[in-house]
Amino acid sequence: MIDSYGRRINYLRISVTELCNLRCKYCMPEKGIKKCSHNDILRIEEFLEIAKSFVNKGIDKIRITGGEPLVRKGVLSLIKGISEIEGVKDLALTTNGVFLKEYAKKLKEAGLNRVNISLDTLNENKYKHITNGGDINKVLEGIKEAKKVGLTPIKLNIVLIKDFNEDEIEDFINLTRDEEIDVRFIELMPIGELKYWALNRYLSNDIVLEKNKELIEIESQDKSSPAKYYKLPDGKGRVGIINPISCKFCDNCNRLRLTADGKVKTCLHSDDEIDIGKVLRNGENIDNTIVKIVKNKPKEHNLEQGDYINRTMTTIGG
Ligand code: SAM
Ligand code: SF4
Repeated sequence: MIDSYGRRINYLRISVTELCNLRCKYCMPEKGIKKCSHNDILRIEEFLEIAKSFVNKGIDKIRITGGEPLVRKGVLSLIKGISEIEGVKDLALTTNGVFLKEYAKKLKEAGLNRVNISLDTLNENKYKHITNGGDINKVLEGIKEAKKVGLTPIKLNIVLIKDFNEDEIEDFINLTRDEEIDVRFIELMPIGELKYWALNRYLSNDIVLEKNKELIEIESQDKSSPAKYYKLPDGKGRVGIINPISCKFCDNCNRLRLTADGKVKTCLHSDDEIDIGKVLRNGENIDNTIVKIVKNKPKEHNLEQGDYINRTMTTIGG
């Protein structure tokens, strides 16, 4: 599918739940979020039906996310169903990794290709602090298991947070020395009710290159990827830098997002949504809706003008 600005739209991110077993300080308020009505959350069969229509129209890359996707009952059958749709070339999952040890083999068997794991610190106490109680050891075991069963290439997502993890940038980069792993630094975005927290703790990704002069830029095979990639001269893995704030990548944006409550977002930083769940439930034509959605994808976001969205990240999925 080509949108009104000539961009090829081939990537759909699906948030399968707004719920999460962690409470990362920048993503979910400690007491949790105001939940959507249970009836509004799409059923697994509905996610699958919508995914099929998107693939039919040209989506070939799908990512399952959340909230925490591994707390959603039926996620394995959704992954199996999506992996069996003809035309899906890449099926990935973003997870906090806490349940990955238990799920990795089952995910691989269901047809998942690879995982991205969010890990903002390598320190046990700091992890507990930023996630409001999480156990880093479970995540580290999960990463090991994911490698073992071949959910690769593994990518670690690290949100850079001022006065929290800038002193660990080197440690993360060093993980790429001996292992074929991607570590990707992401700038903190002002989203939902925690936007002010994010604005106060924002740190430009420039610091990654400033702290490590050894990094050499490499050409990314995927031109639509928001990450710019680098490597250490003797490194096996890659270091990715994702700058949604300091460097806009709207020109190459190839993605659509389906929220847990059945809305399609054509831009992460816009409150505009199309209720495709309702279209499905009313028995209306989904294919025509998808064509309209793609046609109306905006040229760019207006974050720099202070246009911050209201939804929390957990219903959108990153
Ligand atoms: N629970 C899963 C996880 O943490 O990987 C999947 C959902 S989470 C919303 C997806 C990604 O969004 C994570 O890598 C998380 O760090 C990132 N994220 C959440 N809030 C963010 C924010 N305000 N700015 C930048 N990244 C954010
Ligand atoms: Fe949960 Fe992921 Fe948000 Fe952390 S970033 S609270 S793990 S959804």
